[in-house]
Amino acid sequence: MQRSIRDAGWRFDNTYVRLPDALYERVRPTAVRSPGLVVLNRPLAADLGLDAESLHEAGAAMFAGNESPPGAEPIAQAYAGHQFGHFTNLGDGRAILLGEHLTPDGRRLDIQLKGSGRTRYSRNGDGRAALGPMLREYIISEGMHALGIPTTRSLAVAATGETVLRETPLAGAVLTRVAGSHIRVGTFQFAAAMGRRDLPDALLHHAIARHAPEAAAADDPAVAFLDAVVEHQAGLIAAWMLVGFVHGVMNTDNMAVSGETIDYGPCAFLDAYDPATVFSSIDRQGRYAFGNQPAIAHWNLARLAECLLPLAKGHEEAALTAIRGVLDTFPERFQRHHLAGARAKLGLATEDEGDQRLYSDLLDRMRETGADFTATFASLAALAEPAALPAAADVDPRVRSWHQAWLARLAGEPGPRAAAVARMRRANPVVIPRNHRVEEALAAADAGDLAVLERLLAVLREPFQETKDNESYRAGPPPGCGGYRTFCGT
Ligand code: AMP
Ligand code: MG
Repeated sequence: MQRSIRDAGWRFDNTYVRLPDALYERVRPTAVRSPGLVVLNRPLAADLGLDAESLHEAGAAMFAGNESPPGAEPIAQAYAGHQFGHFTNLGDGRAILLGEHLTPDGRRLDIQLKGSGRTRYSRNGDGRAALGPMLREYIISEGMHALGIPTTRSLAVAATGETVLRETPLAGAVLTRVAGSHIRVGTFQFAAAMGRRDLPDALLHHAIARHAPEAAAADDPAVAFLDAVVEHQAGLIAAWMLVGFVHGVMNTDNMAVSGETIDYGPCAFLDAYDPATVFSSIDRQGRYAFGNQPAIAHWNLARLAECLLPLAKGHEEAALTAIRGVLDTFPERFQRHHLAGARAKLGLATEDEGDQRLYSDLLDRMRETGADFTATFASLAALAEPAALPAAADVDPRVRSWHQAWLARLAGEPGPRAAAVARMRRANPVVIPRNHRVEEALAAADAGDLAVLERLLAVLREPFQETKDNESYRAGPPPGCGGYRTFCGT
């Protein structure tokens, strides 16, 4: 029997379309010439309670935007945002939210098509996306998920059979993105900028229900919601910093209140450690450099706090004190998450006041010696014995003295050394989506060969285990690769 998209198990229950209609436009995806399934995320389909076989057989038309799954109520969401510090009105210019799918275990997840045609918010854009950038988002978001980092997910990429015009003509594609929600700091900025009290109010209630249900019963839900978002972001940015992830465009429209990593544009992972690393070709000032990410997150949260201030209870002064009090906790919360993660990377289970210094000293040595971030941490597990570091003179004396300090610290840990080693192996990935590997997979896909991409995805699914399959994926780029650059023409 022929399977249909109706058999896939979609359970839409759409609540965002019940909000005031100033917050979105009802709009259908624009049908494409020739839908074709490029990749389907079978494990994610299963996690969503969807039948992967039906999606595989009959999903291309849906994933390309030609056919609507039962229960979908498509909209483009309005939002604003500070882009590189400048306020602009934006919105889904090339994305369409099909609706909210309920998983068998009760999660409510946005199903969104990206690259699905023009909307009211498209401005001069064509509403479309190219195959390379959509596959890139698929690879990196799934890699982030496997690393245990909160992120939007990628269910599928469909080819459109059409060409998109960028600097050159490129193959068109649509990504199906799955997210806790697509509510951004910029969504609150849009609601606040409209000058209508009902919009931020409705949005706040909606966002609380989805991302901070405990805030509904708090004395001051707006303050409690800010508290939850600050906490989510503190944990998220710490997680990025602990794997060497550079988001690249941390504009307020690219920061989700759910605490998920969102909008994989010019993002990339560090190879050699340098906090000044910028990959994005359009970030000329280095605003979104690796080491700036915590400060930028705090700045973005201040923009959210401004939007929530009028919704907080009490007189102006009291509300300001409450909101400010929560906002000001970001640096300390980030630091707490980051230090806990740093300890795990060093194999430490107990706390010592010198730990922060021990970690930052290692980063300093890595910067001085141009060491690879991921490979250095992955190597620690094998270096946890005094005899492990070669006696040879070619070990930098600064590295040797750090190693001695770290061994002395490990010696003070209760429990066997094997337990510390196991902690390191759980915290330090051996493979990440390395830029040269991602590029290699995209180039092959562009030439019609998806096997390289499939192998990379399989390897990235198990990032903490040294396996035979991932052996050749662990190393940094071959010499001569030069500074990696990412482009925003996504
Ligand atoms: P981004 O840089 O991907 O975060 O996008 C910033 C804004 O530009 C968002 O409002 C997008 O919807 C919009 N945008 C990006 N690319 C296109 C496109 N090809 N067509 C229409 N809008 C776009
Ligand atoms: Mg964006």
